[in-house]
Amino acid sequence: MAGILFIISAPSGSGKSTLVNQIRSLVDNLEFSVSYTTRAPRGSEEEGREYHFTTCETFERMVRDDDFLEHAEVFGKYYGTARRSLTDAQAHGKDLLLDIDVQGAAQVRNKVPDAVSIFVMPPTPDILATRLRSRSRAEGDVSEEEIQRRLAKARQEIENYREYSYILVNDVLARAEEELAAIVASERIHREGNIPVQDSERLMKLAEGCRQENACERIRPVLRAFGLPGEENGTT
Ligand code: ADP
Ligand code: 5GP
Repeated sequence: MAGILFIISAPSGSGKSTLVNQIRSLVDNLEFSVSYTTRAPRGSEEEGREYHFTTCETFERMVRDDDFLEHAEVFGKYYGTARRSLTDAQAHGKDLLLDIDVQGAAQVRNKVPDAVSIFVMPPTPDILATRLRSRSRAEGDVSEEEIQRRLAKARQEIENYREYSYILVNDVLARAEEELAAIVASERIHREGNIPVQDSERLMKLAEGCRQENACERIRPVLRAFGLPGEENGTT
């Protein structure tokens, strides 16, 4: 394996963890980088599975020791990707998937220019609010103030979509899952040449349709729903 680095970012509540969990169970040779965070575990999250939950002191020491490939502050908490995730994946010949925010994605792109970046958009602010509320209810912790904060942040994050190679609109979950799997397969085919992949032509076509430059028709209604300007070529 060539050791492809995949970055996936999305506004909180868009369904990124749902997609990432699905792809982890479906795709071979794809390691998931377990980030470090100073936030507390949520719901059924477990140490070492979703995150390494750590103290501010430990996190700051790791920053000083240059242990992070990237790190950022998100919603008042620290999050970071250990350099070790990348070196371990490379040593084992595995591809690596990073689930990180837009600030972290920009840092990684600078250090690893051939990383493949994927941005997941929620279809509308109303749908995003519904998903945030239902997740909070399931976790027994609904704060309307927090939901409004995440909605405002979502709009800012979506503004950065042009920095990503691929865009997924997570409307129908099964479709977004299939598209994400197709992007991984297609990048492997592109980079590794003639590897045997079942159904490769259809997968490559599906992935091509998610390239940012080919996905305008799907991106435009999302931008409009979030009150953001569309593409500059006057097609809005
Ligand atoms: P994120 O990781 O982006 O913060 P989650 O994966 O936790 O988001 O998803 C937020 C909520 O939305 C969860 O309750 C999840 O089950 C739900 N969800 C995710 N994708 C979809 C979808 N396509 N349709 C309906 N609900 C979804
Ligand atoms: P949550 O607390 O909802 O799991 O994640 C909040 C945000 O932090 C999400 O946008 C998620 O992608 C981002 N995040 C998770 N891990 C990292 C990381 O290691 N680095 C950065 N920069 N962001 C991260």
